Amino acid sequence: MTAIDSALKQRVVILGSTGSIGVSTLDVIAMHPDRFEVFALSAATRVELMLQQCVRFNPVYAVMASEAHGRELERKCRDLNMTTRVLWGTQAITMVASHELVDAVMAAIVGAAGLASCLGAARSGKRLLLANKEALVVGGDYFMQAVAQGGAKLLPIDSEHSAIFQSLPADSASWSSQIDKIILTASGGPFRQRDPQTLRDVTPQQACAHPNWVMGRKISVDSASMMNKALEVIEAHFLFGVRPDQIEVVIHPQSVIHSMVQYKDNSVVAQLGTADMKVPIAYGLSWPHRMASGAAALDFRTMGAMTFESLDSNGHAQRFPGLKLAWDVLHGPSGATAVLNAANEVAVAAFLDGLVRFDQIHAVNLETLAAVDPASPASLEDLLALDALSRAAAQRVVRRFSV
Ligand code: NDP
Repeated sequence: MTAIDSALKQRVVILGSTGSIGVSTLDVIAMHPDRFEVFALSAATRVELMLQQCVRFNPVYAVMASEAHGRELERKCRDLNMTTRVLWGTQAITMVASHELVDAVMAAIVGAAGLASCLGAARSGKRLLLANKEALVVGGDYFMQAVAQGGAKLLPIDSEHSAIFQSLPADSASWSSQIDKIILTASGGPFRQRDPQTLRDVTPQQACAHPNWVMGRKISVDSASMMNKALEVIEAHFLFGVRPDQIEVVIHPQSVIHSMVQYKDNSVVAQLGTADMKVPIAYGLSWPHRMASGAAALDFRTMGAMTFESLDSNGHAQRFPGLKLAWDVLHGPSGATAVLNAANEVAVAAFLDGLVRFDQIHAVNLETLAAVDPASPASLEDLLALDALSRAAAQRVVRRFSV
């Protein structure tokens, strides 16, 4: 390869490279070695997988969240005489995400842990591929201001938001005058038809068994409770600048339509495809063009019926009480979305650890929202302090439930 070939390639950082989105991103990148070069990878605990990724993609940097995991990876890389430089800690993750040689950052860390690195990439004007919805839910307007001030290009990776982005006109200035509403589709997850009274008996394994998508454990539990959809409503509000009452959720169990935009003339534009995150990932990487993603094509001859259910029908309001919280917090003070996110992260972790029941996730979220004054965070420090305060409040509720 010549120096000119190398200069034409996009240098990409994948934050959360060992997760479900991270692995799919590397699969897509591996299909286009002429277009992309992996500049840095980051992960938290899966050292062995990170080592394999380093061997395969030879990044300049590999960053682990903790020193212990970083030193372990460093030792293994040294044993293999690798040139990859191993770093650790949040600051190092933010450093690679905002590095001057980087073109694009895939933000695929799970939870508010990805906030600082997302803001770093936004402020440095990167092409920011946002899978890490919690970072936007926590950061809200502050996050969007960082994107605008840094001149970053924010491309949604969540399949619903990618679908909306693909269904909107290219000129974002015209969105508010043309859009009537945004319709987010939801599969309903593994418990769509379950008797709400039996949700107390749900195990982590059942909650993580999504019928249509293979994902990390946290988002799988969120999908089962539909808190994932609540986070997506908040995400859509900030990404597309629509009012909360312009966002509607409809259950579409087949996950073929990934979301829709209804315009002022009542025309509806939708994006369809198989349930494979490689499609929105490839779109984010290649925007404004398209390239092969490796996902299977839809086959309309064998697909069968597409069906839809209102959230007001079939007991869904009792089954998914957390969804409504999205609109509640969007009508509250600006920090309320951060409080809800922190509470939910703590509640889901406690459920996965067997400390609270599945139906208590909602109770933890409600009680934390009632206990914490969301204030109006105006800096990253404010946001991190509010996140920590909310986590402490949520932990207290968890402790009370788990005795
Ligand atoms: P995974 O749990 O599969 O992966 C999470 C990644 O983040 C892993 O690489 C993990 O490292 C890393 N990580 C975890 N905690 C930390 C931390 N404290 N600091 C730094 N890195 C950390 O999650 P997913 O890939 O499923 O999801 C990632 C994000 O994308 C989430 O925000 C999710 O909501 C969003 N998303 C995911 C979709 C999917 O299909 N999976 C669809 C749409 C959105 P390690 O594994 O080494 O511990």
